[in-house]
Amino acid sequence: MVIFKEIEPLKAFLDNKRGRDLSIGLVPTMGALHPGHLELVKASKKVNSLAVCSIFVNPTQFNNPSDLEKYPRSLDKDIELLNSVGCDVLFFPDKKEMYQKPSTIKFDFGQLDKVLEGEFRPGHFSGVALVVSKLFNIVNPTRAYFGQKDFQQFKIINRLVEELHFNIELICFPTLREADGLAMSSRNLRLTDDQRKTALIFYKALIFATTEIKKGTDLKFIKEKVSKMCLLENDVRLEYLEFADAENLNLLENVTHANQSILLIAGFVGEIRLIDNMFVED
Ligand code: AMP
Repeated sequence: MVIFKEIEPLKAFLDNKRGRDLSIGLVPTMGALHPGHLELVKASKKVNSLAVCSIFVNPTQFNNPSDLEKYPRSLDKDIELLNSVGCDVLFFPDKKEMYQKPSTIKFDFGQLDKVLEGEFRPGHFSGVALVVSKLFNIVNPTRAYFGQKDFQQFKIINRLVEELHFNIELICFPTLREADGLAMSSRNLRLTDDQRKTALIFYKALIFATTEIKKGTDLKFIKEKVSKMCLLENDVRLEYLEFADAENLNLLENVTHANQSILLIAGFVGEIRLIDNMFVED
């Protein structure tokens, strides 16, 4: 694997390789890699001639300074893991390289970035859109891979690609889970053993809610029940459980079967914020 810390040498390397048949698959990450990330790299490797992974803990998408400061970082292990799945290129810039001047550009996605994560993490998606736009322009990939775990992020990037005419195919990869169902996340590394057990509550809540929705149970009742389940757990603070149209993330107040729908959940275990989601299949 070739490692680049600077934009220009990476661009020169890729431009040198870019030919008629060369395809580039990009997996943008913030590092502290786990098997979920590696599945994205493997998927990219399978269909592209060059698999590129980026690791950059992007300050503009953090609305909580302590979350940014404590975000897990493990470069040496990440390099080993990327090598183990045959990643071709790692782009690992520092903050100065990615933000040569403080950026004043702000993105507004209308309703799409005001709900769910957007409501609880103001400015988050503007920062995500900014860094992903930079990465798309630097790497100019054929395809880019994202996880369903950050489903709203995927929708935002979809809108970005459509509106800004990026010629990039986006792939949304299913969430990889631990054996007990917990969605894999770099932030899980910060959980204590007890918190790790408690964190399963969000997965359990999603299983409970999807089952009840399929039975036709009233949504308000389901939400109240999930709030109570979370209140009974030590150290857990639910931020939201929402039911939404998976196409546009419009929040749904009632169970409807017109479109594909999705349940999304977010909350804290101690000071660690976790998110998860699940499609409600008919
Ligand atoms: P992150 O490093 O957390 O920003 O994640 C980088 C990419 O990996 C994003 O597109 C995430 O949605 C994706 N990802 C994170 N966790 C998982 C998971 N458990 N399964 C699949 N993809 C994931």
